[in-house]
Amino acid sequence: MPPWPKSRRPDALDPAPTLGALIAREAARIAAALGLAHEDALADVRILLAQALGRSRAWMLAHDRDPIEADAAAYERGAQWIERRLAGEPVAYILGQREFYGREFTVGPAVLIPRPETELLVEAALEHLPPTRPSRVLDLGTGSGCVALSIACECAQAQVLATDASAEALIVAVRNAQRLGAEKVDFLLSDWFANLGRLRFDLIVSNPPYVARTDAHLLHGDLRHEPQQALTPGPSGLEAIERIAAGAPDHLIPGGWLLLEHGHDQGEAVRSRLQACGLQAIATLRDLAGIERITLGRNGAGEAKRHD
Ligand code: GLN
Repeated sequence: MPPWPKSRRPDALDPAPTLGALIAREAARIAAALGLAHEDALADVRILLAQALGRSRAWMLAHDRDPIEADAAAYERGAQWIERRLAGEPVAYILGQREFYGREFTVGPAVLIPRPETELLVEAALEHLPPTRPSRVLDLGTGSGCVALSIACECAQAQVLATDASAEALIVAVRNAQRLGAEKVDFLLSDWFANLGRLRFDLIVSNPPYVARTDAHLLHGDLRHEPQQALTPGPSGLEAIERIAAGAPDHLIPGGWLLLEHGHDQGEAVRSRLQACGLQAIATLRDLAGIERITLGRNGAGEAKRHD
């Protein structure tokens, strides 16, 4: 049975449900099917229906008490998307897009869905770029391109090289660059530093795979639908971070910065890997939830002051 009758009409005995009632009912189904908190399921239904109806999320909230409109085709589209969500598909893949750092990115099953906490990586990268001269930035494992393209869009002085080991991911990233009109970004198929020759950068940034292969989270929720290659590097979860830390000194200018996103319990391990590779001024930043999320270090023999 479809989630709501196609030709429902209000009458005295059987009043049409309001938009809010419809959303609450579908959210309850999704929460039960996927084991989600009701608030999260509500947010999912609001996003899907807003898109199907061509309305903003603010409009959806303001019209909670309105009777359902008669645009059957739009509701039918919404119903199909809600069925896909009920089957477990992530909202971002259903809609083919996700907002990140104030911009819309095309996403699909070839790339990790951009996470809000990764915005901190962009923020930290922008703070460590020289503000007054052109700089070269490397984004390793770019996926949708959300980090590389946000940096390029925010900092006109930055020339960004975005790499990925997945050709399918790079196709998505290139599409995003075109869509955002980001011209100072190049793309390269590369397994971490493998195809980078002797290039050096002012700043290297990465949100690498860091979930341990045995982590039960990989078997639950949206993560089941995301590329495993983008989530887990191997048994310890630190394999990719170790390779990036080991290669960074050969690809950073003196005084250049490496910034890595990592898991909530990996801060200490990442700091010790960066130290072992000779990086200096190592520090860890916490995300909005207070969790250690980004660790950074600076290549030695640097200039006395970065923000020149
Ligand atoms: N933060 C993501 C998660 O735990 C993992 C992203 C990553 O491995 N880079 O869902």
